[in-house]
Amino acid sequence: MITLPRYVSLTSGHAEGIDDLTAFDNALHDAGIADLNLIKVSSIVPQGSRVVPMRSFPVGSLVPTVYARACSDRPGETVVAAVGMGLSPDGRGVLMEYHGIGTEAEGKAIVRRRVEAAFAMRGLELHEYHVVVAEHTVQEHGCAVAAAVLWGDEMDDQPEPWLTERWTPDARFAVRVREPIFAMRSPYQHIEIVDTFQFGRMLWLDGTVQTSEADHWAYHEMLVHVPMFTHPNPKRVLIVGGGDGGALRAVLQHPVDEAVMVEIDQDVVRAARTYLPSIHGNAFDDPRARLVYEDAFTFLARARARFDVVLMDTTDPVGPAMRLFTQDFYQLVRQNVADDGIIAAQSGSPWLQPDVVQRNWQAMAPHFPHRALYLSHVPTYPAGMWAFILASPARPLPTTPDPARFADLGLETHYYTPEVHQAAFVLPPFVQRLLTVKL
Ligand code: SAM
Repeated sequence: MITLPRYVSLTSGHAEGIDDLTAFDNALHDAGIADLNLIKVSSIVPQGSRVVPMRSFPVGSLVPTVYARACSDRPGETVVAAVGMGLSPDGRGVLMEYHGIGTEAEGKAIVRRRVEAAFAMRGLELHEYHVVVAEHTVQEHGCAVAAAVLWGDEMDDQPEPWLTERWTPDARFAVRVREPIFAMRSPYQHIEIVDTFQFGRMLWLDGTVQTSEADHWAYHEMLVHVPMFTHPNPKRVLIVGGGDGGALRAVLQHPVDEAVMVEIDQDVVRAARTYLPSIHGNAFDDPRARLVYEDAFTFLARARARFDVVLMDTTDPVGPAMRLFTQDFYQLVRQNVADDGIIAAQSGSPWLQPDVVQRNWQAMAPHFPHRALYLSHVPTYPAGMWAFILASPARPLPTTPDPARFADLGLETHYYTPEVHQAAFVLPPFVQRLLTVKL
């Protein structure tokens, strides 16, 4: 004999599909239980059961369920699914379901009558009653489901699927994962793509957030459009890193001749290409894009180029990106950027990584006499406030962006405007001080 668990959560949903089965699957999705293996069980609830709010379960969990499923392929027909649960004062309970043609009110009334009959038959007093119902008017193939999911304490032992980034030894950032999408260890780093409840799909490298569907634009638009609208006519652009493709996409929104992306890890690009299309927008396939899979340090040491704009879209200065925050690296960048060219580098969190901001600022100094720091707000990055450094060998910075040029491009941005561009260089004193204090 298998003892049923005593927590009961009631849920319902309805949807259309291409046939009854897909409509059912979509209805389960609407009810929040599409990714579970449901074993349909009897309708006697174990004594002492409690009705609790629906929770999320790890994908693929096997859960005992009483469910009602009503599907139809007759357009205009209204189907209803309902599950009702009664409890007696001493904690005995019965679950009843109804599925068929009818309205929500009819479904509810039928289930209520069934529960009352079951109680009468056992001589029990109905003390507590709960019902869930879903009604659906069919377009082509439609389904309604209502379900009571039974679960026990053992589910509480399973760690909640949270991903945590250690911001400092004393501060962490955590997101609850809806679904793990992809994970692998490449020769350079651990690559993870997950779907999260709060921020949509996210790319993590070595336990560090790289980008998310919800806020990537706050980073990419500012990393890219600020230097691109500072340069009067950028035609050749280099992106250092940038494996998720978000920066490449933003660069290609400008009338450039060529955008070269030098990324050390081909596996990041492969994974992003497959699972993060909403971030890269298929920019990798643009004929103006050229992808080079190599350490940017080696690439720049060999290249004899004159880029108009160089963008540092790298991981933080650990692992393969360590050398990219050094004077030696910026010397190589200088050798490959036109005299009137512009560079921009993501430079860390002024709150939690002030040393990264300072180090990058000072590492550029010998090769880029003109520098200006600007800020964006990226909720998934440490403490939210993010620093970028704009620099040039010869061009005084910052400049005032031309609103007409922005308007002519017709960009649909979420963060960048010429006004935001200008305002981003206004720094609070605590950030300004980072630029004057020597490390
Ligand atoms: N927006 C992100 C951030 O601020 O955290 C950066 C995103 S992007 C995914 C960073 C990329 O830099 C990674 O794909 C990583 O493989 C790449 N990268 C790290 N070190 C590199 C190097 N030495 N040469 C080229 N690419 C590098």
